[in-house]
Amino acid sequence: MRGKQHYLIFVAMAAGAGIGLWIGGENGVKPDANMFVWFSELFGKTIFIGALKAIVAPLIFFSIIASIVCLPTTGELWQIGWRTLVFYLVTTSIAVGIGLLLVLTIQPGMRGDRDGLRARWPEMKKELSTEYAEKESKLKGGKSAGEIIRQNITRIIQNPFEALSTRNSLGIIFFAILIGIALIAIGEAGRPVIPVVQGINAAIMRLTGWIMAGAPFFIFCLVAALTARYGTSLFATVGWYVATIIAAIGCHVVVLLVIVRVFGKRSPFAFLKGIRRAWAVAFATRSSAATLPVTMECVRDELKVPRKIGDFVLPLGATVNMDGTALYEGVAIIFLIQLFGGLPGAEIDLTATTTIVIFLTAVLASIGAAAVPDAGLITMVLVAGAVGLSEEFIPIIFAVDAFLDMFRTSTNVMGDSVGAVVISRLTGSVPGDEDCAGAPAAA
Ligand code: ASP
Repeated sequence: MRGKQHYLIFVAMAAGAGIGLWIGGENGVKPDANMFVWFSELFGKTIFIGALKAIVAPLIFFSIIASIVCLPTTGELWQIGWRTLVFYLVTTSIAVGIGLLLVLTIQPGMRGDRDGLRARWPEMKKELSTEYAEKESKLKGGKSAGEIIRQNITRIIQNPFEALSTRNSLGIIFFAILIGIALIAIGEAGRPVIPVVQGINAAIMRLTGWIMAGAPFFIFCLVAALTARYGTSLFATVGWYVATIIAAIGCHVVVLLVIVRVFGKRSPFAFLKGIRRAWAVAFATRSSAATLPVTMECVRDELKVPRKIGDFVLPLGATVNMDGTALYEGVAIIFLIQLFGGLPGAEIDLTATTTIVIFLTAVLASIGAAAVPDAGLITMVLVAGAVGLSEEFIPIIFAVDAFLDMFRTSTNVMGDSVGAVVISRLTGSVPGDEDCAGAPAAA
């Protein structure tokens, strides 16, 4: 059944989009369909995403410990750790670079009805202000780079129980790494704990399998509700912007596949086949954290990446590696400058220095973004602030954000999976490697 499930998932996505378009109108959901959308959100968001999120904190915690105690020495942890971080930083930078190249070439902000939009802006600003007010509290999240760094340090050094209960993945990862190292350090005394941790880890993966059994239905609900709510009318205003982001993401996916071939020594087709379920879940849930259990399952079972690598590299990737988000933030800010440059609050020239500042802050903002829907939109304020663009222009792209979030989240998950394949090859953990001795047989 599982072998065929991805077909069902893709059919469900297409059917959901079709029904969503049918029941959604120019001004939102048709009144008769409100009940349908309510139920779709109940099953898709509340139950499916809720269930995946519920297991993600313990999954990150136990899988990281289980992966570390599998390593023969802490030296190997260091080898995997630094390679992973460098890999993630390089691929995120490539993503932003591609985004900037395309947005500067295509110039989406200069196309379409630019003059009309600029003229209507004062009036549109008022219309968008209700929506803006709703998101404003979130948007106030992190304004300066210093503030983001301070916030992240506070998240890393946190009481582990608080980190688990608030799903603070940086705090969970940090504590799990320390506990894993300590278990290796205490030798004999820590040995009885190891099979327990590995057993819990295997049980959580089994829970993931149970949740995923209903994935086609849940994904149908998610896509139908989203399409019904947002429809297609919004593309008229910012169509070029949407097209630029999707084209840039397409280019980055090609780069990732080349990396899989060259550094991971894997067939790109086999790779895509292996991660298709995780890709679809990321697309529909718009959360790389909620997708993490499925990503781990695909990377381990389909791509045969040893557990000791996947269980460490993937949770870390879901937290700090967001290629799609970084690319999107860079493109979005340049688009806004192209569109509104010169108006009050956007007196900015697109010089080389401005572009470099956008490049650097987009990378930083993506690292700080949480792996949840809309997070990229929130941390984008950091990039805007760094070049002096007023955040009052951001609401113009709210309407298409949920749609673009599908593409950037699935790219984020793909980037993490490429990381797992490449790191396993670079550290000599070839496919088919024996998994950790003493680990319970995979469920
Ligand atoms: N939704 C994205 C993720 O979970 C983050 C973002 O909004 O860009 O990976």
